[in-house]
Amino acid sequence: MSYKNPEHKNFPMVKRVVFGRGSLNQVGDIIEPKRKNKKAPFIYIIDDVFEGNPWMIDRIPLRYNDKIIFISAEEEPKTILVDQYRDQIVEEFDELPSGIIGIGGGAMLDYAKAIALMLTNPGSSADYQGWDLVKYPAIYHVGIPTISGTGSEVSRTTVLTGPVRKLGMNSDYTPFDQVILDPELTKDTPKNQWFYTGMDCYIHCIESLNGTYLNAFSQSYGEKSLELCREVFLEKDVRDEESQEKLMMASWHGGMSIAYSQVGVAHAMSYGLGYLLGTKHGVGNCIAFNQLEEFYPDGVAEFKKMVDKHQVEIPQGVCKDLTDKEFDIMIDIALGLVPLWENALGKDWQKTITREKLRSLYEKM
Ligand code: ZN
Repeated sequence: MSYKNPEHKNFPMVKRVVFGRGSLNQVGDIIEPKRKNKKAPFIYIIDDVFEGNPWMIDRIPLRYNDKIIFISAEEEPKTILVDQYRDQIVEEFDELPSGIIGIGGGAMLDYAKAIALMLTNPGSSADYQGWDLVKYPAIYHVGIPTISGTGSEVSRTTVLTGPVRKLGMNSDYTPFDQVILDPELTKDTPKNQWFYTGMDCYIHCIESLNGTYLNAFSQSYGEKSLELCREVFLEKDVRDEESQEKLMMASWHGGMSIAYSQVGVAHAMSYGLGYLLGTKHGVGNCIAFNQLEEFYPDGVAEFKKMVDKHQVEIPQGVCKDLTDKEFDIMIDIALGLVPLWENALGKDWQKTITREKLRSLYEKM
């Protein structure tokens, strides 16, 4: 054990959190004490599906020169876009913003975290993709999820697709200063997205609970999250208020579980799909997990029951027309995620996970 590489992680958490239906209405009261002065705005990063939706937009308490930036969640967040939004903000205002508030699914939360970090750290966000590369604390940042499952609201990372890798800015400065959990905001999530993102949470639990990094801390959160996922996706027939609330807390607990363990095989392979094909995180995990019976037999069987119950289509054959070179790109991305493989299969993971093995798994997807 050393000072630099402690045996036990000392990880940061979200500083403050509100939970409850309608709690979005408190955002103005919550952030106002953090306003530095009238010239330092709050910048809201909002999923563009809410553009022109008065139910959401009329509740955003803009004052002075506060601003909303609408961003599309059609594609996964990219380093080049993070840099562009940062530059745009720096150019438009005389002072650094008082804070960044992200409202949306995992992509918007990741944009908010990344932009908040890049307002105080020089260079490109691509320079900080990895573990503990960020040098300076971010500006004040707030996360308000409108889709449940990614765990981005609690995580110490912000996953970005960059020029050479798909990897998070994983740092002690990344977690939100404030999170507002308002389950009502998830009521209109389209069914497929609700399911794919919910399964992201389910897969976090399975990968965490079956990993070699598991300890009592991550297990206690993982088991609670798994129980909530089962209630939402197997026991309930409707997406009522109770189900919205349970899935929001499942996401939180799933994120807490992987904070002290790690994800595994489905995530490693999903990052390859995302990098090459632009497959979004939730559906990419489902495509991968669907073919991983040999690693997670019970989890995959239960996942298939959930797919059947909700009659959701999991895309198949997404790799069928790929070239050798394209397979190699995905394999390189997946193999680069060493902690994920080590968690899934132990220190000797390279004995079973060869390039050929990954190629044969990708060919089934
Ligand atoms: Zn995930």
